[in-house]
Amino acid sequence: MPATTTCEPPLHATGAVPVIGLAINKTQRRELLDHLDRELATARHHGERLALLVVNLCRFRQINIAFGHDAGDRVLEQVYVRMRDALRKDDLLFHVGNDEFAVLLTRLRTPQVTKLAVEKILNSIGANMDIDSQTLAVTAVAGAAVFPDHAGNRNDLLKAADSALHFARDQQLDYSIYDASTRSEDTRLASLKGNLRTALDNGDLMLHYQPQLNLQRGVLCGSEALARWHHAEMGWIRPDIFIAVAEKAGLIDSLTYWSLNVALREWSQFCSSCEATSVAINLSAKLLHSPELVPMVERAMNIWNADPASIVLEVTESAMMADPATALHTLRALHEMGITLSIDDFGTGYSSLAYLKKLPVAELKIDKSFVMHMAENRQDRKIVQSVIDLAHTLEMQVVAEGIEDERILNMLVAMGCDYGQGFYIARPMPAGELRPWAEASVWGVPAGADACEVAKS
Ligand code: C2E
Ligand code: MG
Ligand code: MG
Repeated sequence: MPATTTCEPPLHATGAVPVIGLAINKTQRRELLDHLDRELATARHHGERLALLVVNLCRFRQINIAFGHDAGDRVLEQVYVRMRDALRKDDLLFHVGNDEFAVLLTRLRTPQVTKLAVEKILNSIGANMDIDSQTLAVTAVAGAAVFPDHAGNRNDLLKAADSALHFARDQQLDYSIYDASTRSEDTRLASLKGNLRTALDNGDLMLHYQPQLNLQRGVLCGSEALARWHHAEMGWIRPDIFIAVAEKAGLIDSLTYWSLNVALREWSQFCSSCEATSVAINLSAKLLHSPELVPMVERAMNIWNADPASIVLEVTESAMMADPATALHTLRALHEMGITLSIDDFGTGYSSLAYLKKLPVAELKIDKSFVMHMAENRQDRKIVQSVIDLAHTLEMQVVAEGIEDERILNMLVAMGCDYGQGFYIARPMPAGELRPWAEASVWGVPAGADACEVAKS
């Protein structure tokens, strides 16, 4: 990436240096801190307001991967110019990280002006860009905090703007302006971090298993292991929330090692002598790029003497696309161990067909958002059929999740879908409830029979 660009001179007489490039981001960060000190002193002196905005481009890494770093640089230049054009002449703009920008809005009359400014900036970034005769849609997410309303000094203002940005990202909002609820969300997450460590040490987490059917044969063929945490004061905490907390707190290795061990032990007890059914375990996006993963899986398999053919590891599409080269390396190692790999939440990410073809993956899991409404929604039905056809063309099998009623189940059978799971078949349940469920269910196994005489495929 070049250290200088075609960007124009400073916005402000004393102002930020509008240069783009990785090499000078440190300088720009320093500039931001110096300007913040100066502008805060002025605002304090004159009793004025000041807002700090932090803006992150979404999926900039993917743009670099898909279109190359030159195109990435041109996107940054255009974003910079668009942001500058959306600002007033006294405002200051800094490129502080690869895909991160910061803006100081000075002499604010009311805190509401911040909202207008953020919307203007995001709209300007969001208009299509023509790069190398391709049209790119670039989006960004922003967080903002206002002095003195949200923070009284430089560090608190930086923290408040960052916390608003994280809140917007977590809640999938375009932007968020710091307020008491983002603060309480932060405090809640911070306390969850400590509690999760204790919960792991004390064995307060558990796995529930959601049965999966071989749809064409109408019989149980496996299950997906889903982590559950019942917190003494907060009640049930959603797994997507505590998995994110585990990732941030550096606990995801321990949590995954725990779930691998529990799943291999509990599922093998349920299936006793059976080798032919499978248990699917979800892998965090973070772990897919860690050298710890493969040895961790090997260790758990050795402890429980597990047959690799009975293990499915689920990886989300977006996790693979975050760093395709490392992901491919890890997936190949797991595949060579004889483990089945499955792409979870398929249809919600950005995997290209060229990339998909290269992966040693045997299964696509159609995201439940397409399946749950397919009885009423023709488009969802078409998407589901296309994924089934695509998977079969690539000699993969398909699992549909989110089967909530009989009509959907029957449609999927008719469409040639291989496997399925959903609340209509069974909700996730503790290991101890699997056998009673299997004995009572039309898809399970008759009392007394080996729970696993029906096999996946
Ligand atoms: P996922 O892997 O896509 O799991 C499927 C989710 O869909 C589960 O939610 C399941 O309970 C839900 N589901 C299944 N059938 C239906 C249905 O018919 N209707 C509806 N509305 N939902 C259905 P859950 O258990 O809340 O898990 C959410 C996500 O948390 C999982 O999505 C997975 O990404 C993550 N997760 C859960 N356990 C673990 C774990 O042990 N490790 C990691 N890394 N992630 C986990
Ligand atoms: Mg899953
Ligand atoms: Mg899924």
